[in-house]
Amino acid sequence: MKTAPSRFSSPYSPITPPIVQRIRLAVGEGCVLTEKEKLEPFGKDATELLHLPELVVEVRNVEEVQAVLRLANEHRFPVTPRGLGTGLTGGSVPVFGGVVLSLARMNRILSVDPRNMIAIVEPGVVNIDLKRAAREKGLFYPPDPASLDTCSLGGNAATNAGGPSCVKYGTTRDYLLGLEAVLPNGEKVTAGVQTRKGVVGYDLAHLIVGSEGTLGIITRLILKLIPHPPAVSTLVSFFPDLPSAMEAVTAILTSGHIPSAMEFMDRHCLELVGDMLAFESTVYSGAFLLLETDGSPAVVQQEIEKLGEVCLEHGALDVLLAPDSNRRNKMWEVRKEVSLRIEHSSPLYIPEDVVVPIGRIAEFVTGLPVFEKRYDMKIYAFGHAGDGNIHLNITAADPVARPRIEEGVSALLREVLTLGGTISGEHGIGFTKKGFLPLEISRESIRLQKAIKNVFDPLHILNPGKLFD
Ligand SMILES: Cc1cc2nc3c(=O)[nH]c(=O)nc-3n(C[C@H](O)[C@H](O)[C@H](O)COP(=O)(O)OP(=O)(O)OC[C@H]3O[C@@H](n4cnc5c(N)ncnc54)[C@H](O)[C@@H]3O)c2cc1C
Repeated sequence: MKTAPSRFSSPYSPITPPIVQRIRLAVGEGCVLTEKEKLEPFGKDATELLHLPELVVEVRNVEEVQAVLRLANEHRFPVTPRGLGTGLTGGSVPVFGGVVLSLARMNRILSVDPRNMIAIVEPGVVNIDLKRAAREKGLFYPPDPASLDTCSLGGNAATNAGGPSCVKYGTTRDYLLGLEAVLPNGEKVTAGVQTRKGVVGYDLAHLIVGSEGTLGIITRLILKLIPHPPAVSTLVSFFPDLPSAMEAVTAILTSGHIPSAMEFMDRHCLELVGDMLAFESTVYSGAFLLLETDGSPAVVQQEIEKLGEVCLEHGALDVLLAPDSNRRNKMWEVRKEVSLRIEHSSPLYIPEDVVVPIGRIAEFVTGLPVFEKRYDMKIYAFGHAGDGNIHLNITAADPVARPRIEEGVSALLREVLTLGGTISGEHGIGFTKKGFLPLEISRESIRLQKAIKNVFDPLHILNPGKLFD
């Protein structure tokens, strides 16, 4: 665990005992944490970064959020919103100290409305809890980050989270119809609609989505639901190498099929989780594809067979259907386990989540061994093949190699941009990736984005140190 470097020491006013007292009066004694051992879990997310807040406030309603922000304006202390701290770029780490404002207690599902096919939720609801509540009414909330049983819907909206189902269903932004947020000055704003459409004024709701807690604190979400697909079918397919698997992915997508998941793992990943796969092919294959289709039972069965054929036409060594939910779950467990095993496999671990155009995935992955050799690093690649979203888990056996590895990361990101891709498909910029932002975004665009931040937050109270300096 590393702490934030001292150059990020706070330019803000410290939170003095009288300010703590005013916060306690505003939100109640039981919602304020000050003891060091209680602050520590709120000083980190899923990155290695740790920076202690001066105070944690566990709000229970929108009025408490407003009260904290009003005090922050009055006394000039920073406020960092936090969902459940599963972020992968330090977005909820309070790099300038101040208050971490935890939304975890605002976790009520206010309604799941089957007639209008919407859900209204508080931001601390865990993703999977909404999925289950919707399922009970025959409805489906598709966004499915791999962290779905531990991350919050507010965090999902703030990062525009996606997951395996993106290839067919899109990201969180596609399901957010409207929201309520508290602005950095403490004012409450509602934005967006409860309807399927709406084009009145600027789209503030979708500007706040993906803004990583820098423009407003989301206190309520209105989410679109769709009918739950009645059937699902899964297959796994093994390929001799990653480029051929990716050629199959492009072939599937360009031949008119839209699977509901297209996940992949490379040979390095298979070496780590191969013990969980009871298939002979695991041993000699160089890449693994997991494909899924959903819809009516007859169509699903036909389509999965067709996808298997396309895989075989593109060099698959083996295609295996998951005939029951038990075996299907096992295949997904493997996919979920891989990131944990990678993290524990090396002393130096840098996760990237680049996206390249689907027609260029094979070209990109073909070049990965060149980068491994040139920068003396090992790249574990897995991810959402159907979106061209490749999680590059860059590792090295020697932690002192970090500067050289970071050069390699930078070179990889430049390659992604040359291919017409983007440096982050899901994890966002937060704190740890902001040095790379100018690689992708032009100076003029950064100027405009900073101007937007200044309109929302002229005093830089909300989540400072994220996205830009
Ligand atoms: C094992 C693992 C797998 C993952 N898989 C995926 C994946 O498949 N797809 C994906 O997209 N991500 C993935 N992630 C990353 C992470 O889970 C997502 O970014 C998630 O959306 C973060 O939710 P959270 O509640 O943990 O938010 P946090 O980590 O607490 O916060 C994330 C950001 O959102 C802001 N924020 C949180 N709540 C609010 C709010 N109510 N209002 C305003 N801002 C807020 C924070 O300030 C911060 O900038 C994964 C993480 C892990 C550890």
